[in-house]
Amino acid sequence: MNRAVFLDRDGVINKILYEPDGNIMAPANLEQVKILDNVKEGIQRFKELGFKVIVVTNQPGVAFGYLKKEKLQEINNFLKNELGIDEIYSCTHHPKFDGECNCRKPKIGLIEQAKNDFDIDVENSYMVGDNLSDIETGKNANVKKTFRIGIIRDDMIQLQHEKNIYPDFTLPDLSVIADKIKNIEERERFDNLQLCVSSDPIEDYLYQNNVQLKNIELDFICDPWNLPMKDNSLNNIIALDGISDLSKEEFDKTIKKISSLLKIGGKLYLKYPNLKVLSKRLNEIINETSKDEPELFQLLSRWKLFSLQNVHEILKKSGFSKIMEGKENFEEKFLNTQQEQYYIYIKVIK
Ligand SMILES: [Mg+2]
Ligand SMILES: [Zn+2]
Repeated sequence: MNRAVFLDRDGVINKILYEPDGNIMAPANLEQVKILDNVKEGIQRFKELGFKVIVVTNQPGVAFGYLKKEKLQEINNFLKNELGIDEIYSCTHHPKFDGECNCRKPKIGLIEQAKNDFDIDVENSYMVGDNLSDIETGKNANVKKTFRIGIIRDDMIQLQHEKNIYPDFTLPDLSVIADKIKNIEERERFDNLQLCVSSDPIEDYLYQNNVQLKNIELDFICDPWNLPMKDNSLNNIIALDGISDLSKEEFDKTIKKISSLLKIGGKLYLKYPNLKVLSKRLNEIINETSKDEPELFQLLSRWKLFSLQNVHEILKKSGFSKIMEGKENFEEKFLNTQQEQYYIYIKVIK
């Protein structure tokens, strides 16, 4: 699925025109189109962040008859090519002439259309507009955050109170909004990280998942010591499943990497094989000549030369100060495991 930044057109991408009596109107031909500041940069940034850029616009001028369909098409094609917009969807209706359509914002027909055409994950997408009806559209479609573009004006605040509709942010232009979206996305993705070294999908590789915030994509697969994230960007790392599948050298490298990713005061929650219990179980299995638990054989053969003392040394060497052992240290925050006797639970603070 794709995520999108949905943009209103007039007042967001191009300047609004005013009739002599002060009424707002949309450009009726190419000559009247004036692109606003930082629009091209903003759209470029959205695309770099991995978003589709989709414009949803009400153009009732077509219904009123002062905007020709061909001219609208011409303007939209120009904006698409000039700015690298993926698609522009227009509602050309007005209730006075067409009755109720399902695409006139704040209805969500245009967003639904885009969702089908581009396989958009709307709940993880954003809406940007200059009018409260754009914000309302975003809320109706259940987008992640809404942005009103422009300055905070008294009359707009008054209208917000009247309608009880509030944008999540009011910001001056698309470039600043791109910064904000980047910030939102990075914080959510990187505040907490769950490491899983897994045979699925790729053997001995790592995937990340965020245990506290939903709808976070698993967007990289790599060796755990190569995590593609910024130093000092994480509050918590929870290393649960399969980290004991690493060799001692790999474990060593991984802990060093984890330490560099954590902020000062950040915590690592680590699950480490309880070799005593595992050895005992292994003996039982050997005596029973049962091969019920082949993964225990594997785990133990990998870790039996690797004592808990070694783990503590690696942790200390990698810049962790306080080391605590015990299941309750895990459970206070995250853990819900069935095989507790096979593991020792360690919480360390950088
Ligand atoms: Mg507008
Ligand atoms: Zn419509």
